[in-house]
Amino acid sequence: MTHLVIDREACAGHGLCYGSAPGIVESDEQGDPVILADPVPSGLLGQAQRVVAYCPERALELRE
Ligand code: SF4
Repeated sequence: MTHLVIDREACAGHGLCYGSAPGIVESDEQGDPVILADPVPSGLLGQAQRVVAYCPERALELRE
């Protein structure tokens, strides 16, 4: 199983991830990202890989 993990120390909370991958990441009430799909379903792996690459702070990682 593949998990999308957030490094809370590195995350700047600017929301590019949940704007670009709304099926996987959502915003909580404070505007911080929350992982919706854990483990990541195989059909969403491509989207998960893209959002990892998209995070400018390198705060997202896929782990097996
Ligand atoms: S794009 Fe990266 S740094 Fe920005 S809110 Fe999402 S996880 Fe945090």
